[in-house]
Amino acid sequence: MSKLVPPHGGGPLKPLLLTGAALAEGKRKAETLKQVRMTSRETCDLIMLGIGAFTPLEGFMGKADWQSVCDTTRMASGLFWPIPITLSVSETQADVLEVGQEITLVDDESNEIMGLMRIQEKYAYDKQHECRSVFQTDDMEHPGVQKVMNQGAINLAGPVQVLSEGEFPKKYASIYKRPAETRAVFEQKKWSKVAAFQTRNPMHRSHEYLAKIAIETLDGVLIHQILGKLKAGDIPAEVRAEAIDLLVEKYFVADTAIQAGYPMEMRYAGPKEALLHAVFRQNYGCSHLIVGRDHAGVGDYYGPFDAQYIFDQVSEEELKTRPLKIDWTFYCYKCHGMASMKTCPHGKEDRQLLSGTKLRKMLSEGETVPPEFSRPEVLEVLKRYYASLKDGEKVEVKLHKAATG
Ligand SMILES: [Zn+2]
Repeated sequence: MSKLVPPHGGGPLKPLLLTGAALAEGKRKAETLKQVRMTSRETCDLIMLGIGAFTPLEGFMGKADWQSVCDTTRMASGLFWPIPITLSVSETQADVLEVGQEITLVDDESNEIMGLMRIQEKYAYDKQHECRSVFQTDDMEHPGVQKVMNQGAINLAGPVQVLSEGEFPKKYASIYKRPAETRAVFEQKKWSKVAAFQTRNPMHRSHEYLAKIAIETLDGVLIHQILGKLKAGDIPAEVRAEAIDLLVEKYFVADTAIQAGYPMEMRYAGPKEALLHAVFRQNYGCSHLIVGRDHAGVGDYYGPFDAQYIFDQVSEEELKTRPLKIDWTFYCYKCHGMASMKTCPHGKEDRQLLSGTKLRKMLSEGETVPPEFSRPEVLEVLKRYYASLKDGEKVEVKLHKAATG
């Protein structure tokens, strides 16, 4: 029997991707049905359903689940779930679709046919209520709020069959992994306690330290990159992957860290997103999620440790993947090593603290970044990336603020 944490909901992984003859049949059928176009966020969520990362969900959520998730972070059934997983269309489009009808789901950017859905329900929903619940704000400057407010007014709900994983398996061939695959890797390495390290940034020494704190007490760490769309100014996944590969190769003991990527899009929902990160990491087989400072945050919408506190409201019965709460980490010149606010008694002036914004500025202007902040191999990769940017892109890079996870 597996010693890994069980998939969310207690049953087996539930990947909704069709394979073999069913896939061929599904694709044929998809050509004949009415099409509904999905945003990149919706496409990514569909793929997460497809690979079993959102186990035990069977499709996009209906009204009762939407309401219950917004109000109580639980589905109508009582199952813990922190953020609604929904599909929206305009009222005009909803008018020509019938409950009971089967539709083809198409990615709006690539025009690729991604899946099939049987419409079980169509319903109007309160966008502001969703935003206040998920993001704790309805400020249109918040990138997650913006996306929800720009969605169609009607949600379509129902079970899905997934026909494609889009560009992810090919574009990120070296790191793209499905939950069943990371579980198989952990089993093969005889790991049972694994921490996931969520990242959308290249790993600097403070991130390396977080991962190594986990390795000190658990079997290994899954360095888990988000592969879906980010906001302007964030570093693309392939650049991050190259930098992380080098870091792991040069600075980690063999077989203690694995890099993988997952096909979701950031919502920047801070604490609520940290909970979602834990839910699907449970499906990937991770017993822990490293939650550092400002996890999944953006700007200053969330307190730096809100994403840690929120886990205190969720029992281990409901969510098996537990947080590894770690304080703000940095290099301290008086400690002569990596430390955190919890372990270092010295002051700000003794610590090497660079904001993401300052670092981007230094890298794009060719300034020397101190080795206490980042490994030289990582900096080389980043310098090359910034040098390849056009001037206009660099300006945009400088305007955006960074967070850690
Ligand atoms: Zn110190």
